[in-house]
Amino acid sequence: MDIDIAPQLAEFREEIRRWLDDHLVGEFAQIRGVGSPTDDAAWEARLAWEKELGAGGWLGLGWPREYGGRGASLAEEVVFEYEYARAAAPARVGTQALELLGPTLIRFGTDRQRERFLPKIVAVEEMWGQGFSEPGSGSDLASVSTRARRDGDDWVIDGQKIWTTFGHHADWLYVLCRTDPDSTLRHKGLSLLLVPVDQPGVEVRPIRNLAGGSEFSECYFDGARTSTDMVVGEVGGGWPVVMATLGMERGAALMPMQLSMEREVQETITQASKLGATADPRIRRRLTDAYIAVHLMRSTNLRIVSDLIDPDAGVPGARSAAAAAIMKLFASTEHQKLGELALDIQGDLGLLESDEFSPASNAQKMFLLSRAETIYGGTAEIQRNIVSERVLGLPR
Ligand SMILES: Cc1cc2nc3c(=O)[nH]c(=O)nc-3n(C[C@H](O)[C@H](O)[C@H](O)COP(=O)(O)OP(=O)(O)OC[C@H]3O[C@@H](n4cnc5c(N)ncnc54)[C@H](O)[C@@H]3O)c2cc1C
Repeated sequence: MDIDIAPQLAEFREEIRRWLDDHLVGEFAQIRGVGSPTDDAAWEARLAWEKELGAGGWLGLGWPREYGGRGASLAEEVVFEYEYARAAAPARVGTQALELLGPTLIRFGTDRQRERFLPKIVAVEEMWGQGFSEPGSGSDLASVSTRARRDGDDWVIDGQKIWTTFGHHADWLYVLCRTDPDSTLRHKGLSLLLVPVDQPGVEVRPIRNLAGGSEFSECYFDGARTSTDMVVGEVGGGWPVVMATLGMERGAALMPMQLSMEREVQETITQASKLGATADPRIRRRLTDAYIAVHLMRSTNLRIVSDLIDPDAGVPGARSAAAAAIMKLFASTEHQKLGELALDIQGDLGLLESDEFSPASNAQKMFLLSRAETIYGGTAEIQRNIVSERVLGLPR
């Protein structure tokens, strides 16, 4: 599928370009390309920008109109993401809600939950954090030990979550809890609860990361409360809900990553030329490999999308699921290689602490922050297990 020439999309693309040209100016132009899913740099400015996007009707594009969305087609969403990346607009801060919780509520939530939460997400009035992982439960999520028990009209929650992305910016957390302590089956007796942060029973402590930022947090629940209608899906039936959310994290959320990586590859090539590093054939070869990798990602993404848009083109379910699993693994490992290359090109400069937005610090950030990409959203080893078992059909 060539999204650049589809005539019905050309007008939509022009509208996006015009809007971005008109609005990505002034203080917002200063934060072009700033931030990532693991970087809360320039948070306030990015938050203001996201409100601007929401007011312009560009958030929750594919969501139903009654919940503040635009009812856009998948093709339109893809065009938007490409234009957004082309303009180097700031990395979005509401991804947890817009890409993960929102679609989960649309699929599994009650009408009341959808009416209560979705419009506030697209208006950027409430931020969300994902409370799945615990100190003893990450890849093996069914082993979570955070508990919730009924007390009148409330659930009362005790336990600890960790690595909650943007947790200290969150107004609400979606928390995987064990609600049936007697369940003998690990995947049963779990529920997904929506929990307000602003209450005495919740404490959120930011954690400092490798790059010196603190975009994630640990969250403590000590008699925290939420009302009984704040369960997403069935009580005790949280597992399929959480698996669907993780599926979104490993699939749909990858497109923006490929797009920003295209820009980073281009920047790395420019830096290499500027610093004379292209005289080294080993650097030239690594740059070529990075360029090829990002174009493989682009082609694979377009194949996934064209399958989804045009089911007659192939066997959408199987082919897209396979491609998404492979992409998570490929994208995260290739991004790490690019971070290493960008830092090597900087030479000694890459070892110095430098100004926030200098090329050297951009390279340092890419190098350091990309370490986490083979961990969050499913580790590289877990992705290899998925690819070998579900894609290649190998034995466990
Ligand atoms: C930057 C960042 C942001 C995050 N954001 C969030 C968030 O917002 N919300 C949230 O809930 N969590 C978040 N996480 C947590 C993330 O989901 C977990 O770190 C991840 O699932 C791995 O779990 P773990 O850290 O407990 O490692 P473990 O599961 O203990 O794994 C340790 C090692 O063992 C390997 N391993 C484990 N099981 C297997 C297996 N079956 N086969 C082969 N190898 C295996 C792993 O690959 C890994 O190398 C984030 C993590 C990071 C780094």
